Amino acid sequence: MSHFSTQAVHAGRDDLNALGVHALPLDLSTTYPVTGLEAATASFDALVAGEASAPNPIYARLHNPTVARFENALATLEGAEAAVAFGSGMATLSAVLLARKAYGQHIVAVRPIYGSADHLLSSGLLGLETTWTCADKVAEAIRADTCLVLIETPANPTLQLVDIADVVRQAGAVPVMVDSTFATPVLQTPLALGAAYVMHSATKFLGGHGDVIAGVVATSEERAKALRQVRALTGGLLHPLGGYLLHRGLATLSVRVERAQASAQLLVERLSHHPAVAAVHYPGRTLSSRAILNKQMRGPGSLLAIELAGGYAAADAVLRAVELFTPAVSLGSVDSLIQHPAGLTHRVLSEESRQSTGITPAMLRLSIGLEHPDDLWADLLQALNLANATIAA
Ligand SMILES: *Cc1c(COP(=O)(O)O)cnc(C)c1O
Repeated sequence: MSHFSTQAVHAGRDDLNALGVHALPLDLSTTYPVTGLEAATASFDALVAGEASAPNPIYARLHNPTVARFENALATLEGAEAAVAFGSGMATLSAVLLARKAYGQHIVAVRPIYGSADHLLSSGLLGLETTWTCADKVAEAIRADTCLVLIETPANPTLQLVDIADVVRQAGAVPVMVDSTFATPVLQTPLALGAAYVMHSATKFLGGHGDVIAGVVATSEERAKALRQVRALTGGLLHPLGGYLLHRGLATLSVRVERAQASAQLLVERLSHHPAVAAVHYPGRTLSSRAILNKQMRGPGSLLAIELAGGYAAADAVLRAVELFTPAVSLGSVDSLIQHPAGLTHRVLSEESRQSTGITPAMLRLSIGLEHPDDLWADLLQALNLANATIAA
C-alpha cells in the first residue's frame, strides 16, 4: 500500500474518474426517489440493519453518499474496516456508549479525558456507571459487566500519554476505545495496537479550518453496523457539507500536522527557557512519556500546555495580551489558539478531578497552527513579558 500522505490525498476518490468528476460530489438530498417498491423496501431494510450502503439511500438519516465517502477515506487512514461519522465528537462518544450498553452497564475510563466526555460519564446520563482509574490499574477495574474501556492519548489538556497496547492487554476481552483527536491518524493508529474503536473530534485536526463540527469513529464492520443503527435512530447526523469539508481537509492533513508539529517543537524549546513559564507539558518531555511516544506515536504533535509561574493572574494576563494567537477553545486549526482549561474546557470537572489530573489554574493550553513559528514566538514573548510586568506592578 502507498504511503500515508498519498492515501490521505486519494482515499475515498477511487471512482471519481469513472464518474467523470474531479472534485468530491456533494449530495444534499434529504430524500431519494423510489423507482420500484420492492427494491426500495430491500434498501430500507439493509440500512435499518446498519449496512454501510444500499442501492437507494431512501432518506438522509439512513445514509448519505457524501458522508459515506468521507467515512471510507477515514477508515483507510486508520487501517479500519469501517468508520461512522456523527454531528460532533460528543455525538460520536454517545453513540458508542449507547451501542456498547447492550453488553453491560459499566465503563472503565482513565483520566484525564476531554471535559465534556468526563462530564457525560460522571453524570450517568446514559445509564452507565463509570469507574475512573489510572492507566496501570485498568485490569483491576474491569468487571463482568464492563462493556468498554475509554482512554484519550495524548490527553486533553495535560498531554499525558497512555500506553495503548498495555491498556488493551489489561482490558482482555473488553473492547478499548482510544480518543485519538490530538494525534490524528498521521501520528498514531490505535487499531494497529489492538484498540477496538478509535474516535476523533473531527472538529479539530481532521476538518482543520475551524468551520466544521463533527466526530467520527473507526472500527470493525460488525461494530460499525451497530453504530449506524444508533445514528439512524437517534439522528446524531453529520451534515453532508460537513462530510465534504472533512474529506477535503484530509488531503492536507499530514502536511498540516507535520508543519504545526515542527513549530510546536520549536516553541516548546523556547518556552521552557522563559522565566515566566514554570512548566511545559508536551509528549516525550519525561522519560516515561518518551518511552510511550517512541512505542506508539510517529511524533509529539502540535498541542502543548504551559503553567505560568505567576499562577492564575499571569495566565489571565497572557490570554488578554496575545495578538496573533486567538484566545479561544478548540484546537487543530490552521491558526493558533490558546485557552485556559480550568476555566473553560475542563470547567465541568469536579475540583477534585481537576486537581488529581494536574489541571491547575496556572495552566494554558496552546494549539499551534501554520503561522511562521518566529511570529508565534514573538507574540508569546510579548504576552509573557507583559503578564510578568502586570503581576509585578
Ligand atoms: C473537542 C473534543 C471532543 C469533543 O468533540 P466535539 O466535536 O466538540 O463534540 C472530544 N475529545 C477531544 C479530545 C476533544 O478535543
